[in-house]
Amino acid sequence: MSRPIFAFVLAFGALIAGFAPVKAAETRPNVLIIVADDLGYADLGFQGCKDIPTPNLDALAKSGVRCTSGYVTGPYCSPTRAGLLTGRYQQRFGHEFNPGGAGPNVGLPLSQTTLADQFKAAGYTTGLVGKWHLGNQPKFHPQKRGFDEFFGFLGGAHGYFPAEAAAPILQGTKTVKETEYLTDAFTREAVSFIERHKADPFVLYLAYNAVHTPMHATDARLTRFASITDKRRQTYAAMLFAMDEGVGKVLNALDSTGVRDNTLIVFFSDNGGPTMPGTTINGSSNAPLRGSKRTTCEGGIRVPFVFSWKGKLPAGATYESPIAQIDVLPTALAACGATPKPDTKFDGVNLLPYLKGENKDVPHTTLFWRLGGQNAVRHGEWKLVQYDAALDTPGEISRGVPKISPPRLYNLAADIGETKDVSAENPLKVALLQSLLQEWNKGNVKPLWGQGGQE
Ligand code: CA
Repeated sequence: MSRPIFAFVLAFGALIAGFAPVKAAETRPNVLIIVADDLGYADLGFQGCKDIPTPNLDALAKSGVRCTSGYVTGPYCSPTRAGLLTGRYQQRFGHEFNPGGAGPNVGLPLSQTTLADQFKAAGYTTGLVGKWHLGNQPKFHPQKRGFDEFFGFLGGAHGYFPAEAAAPILQGTKTVKETEYLTDAFTREAVSFIERHKADPFVLYLAYNAVHTPMHATDARLTRFASITDKRRQTYAAMLFAMDEGVGKVLNALDSTGVRDNTLIVFFSDNGGPTMPGTTINGSSNAPLRGSKRTTCEGGIRVPFVFSWKGKLPAGATYESPIAQIDVLPTALAACGATPKPDTKFDGVNLLPYLKGENKDVPHTTLFWRLGGQNAVRHGEWKLVQYDAALDTPGEISRGVPKISPPRLYNLAADIGETKDVSAENPLKVALLQSLLQEWNKGNVKPLWGQGGQE
């Protein structure tokens, strides 16, 4: 072969080998979903927090759109995750409560198509790092639900130091001997996933168990917050700071691999901070919201919520209309130009036109909640709610199946803290919201398992 022809073949071969994957990565965005666990509404810098610095999450919020009426459809870990992974109200398929006990069918029903199934079908590499909490049985394992890779734990909570962990950390289905503080380990694995799959289109679900109990923090981080005199708050601050550092490292990995601009990033907490007696209190604050994890008051369901996609979504913006975590999957699929699998029925909607300001209508005229006898309807600025009545009596402990308040109506535009029940003055509004709730309930089924073990 003469030299010019040889050089041409080499160059052409390099062009084919090098160009095709780069082009694919450019045209097919990645998705990174970061979920915090039991984070208080008030406990991030961009939410107004003063005593715990969260510079990396603040920078993420500044790079994108902060949703000021961001909700989760459950005030508990597992129901929220069921809604996230299906894009549906979890009450549609009976995943109303946390999976208590170890029954053979306690987990995200196999009838449901997951976010990972959807992206797998679209040719994506799919990974979960962190907490699963959608079933312990082998048939519910993340790698049976569409995830190519899994590093984390299957249950609802986990110790952060190796010596204090009762359940194993798994890589796939194999137990691994983890030596790092768990939040740092999850960060390490998320960075590794991004570095290994930078040339693929990928979806990574990074589910930190921070800042869920048990309250475990490293000495170095505790020392950093020595000025916080409340011991629980100090430990919470150190745990949250570890997660914020982790988010910084993960975002750096997106930058250093050159995929940041081509990655849709979503961040939210799976429920509000557990602040009421009877929950596993972690030192969080939901101010100015009323209520706690396990209630349908705003403190249980309204959470910090951010979408960031450089060059595609506005930066430093806020979006006021109500949205929920069930919107994440339809939004992510639309961002990637992927078509949902046949027979997919989302309750969530693609938020991109709304977040970009192209659609001035609202994504949801009404949002709904149900957790046993508790329920809520948000319709515009109005909210009708029946909540755990222990909230009405200071010091009362909420356990098991709670007593339920009568229906109460709040105007959230005027009263975000749900302090003034205006149901007596607005009977027609109460009737309207009750009828909307009844109509929504017709599309739900009975819970597949009971309300026990709700932590
Ligand atoms: Ca949680």
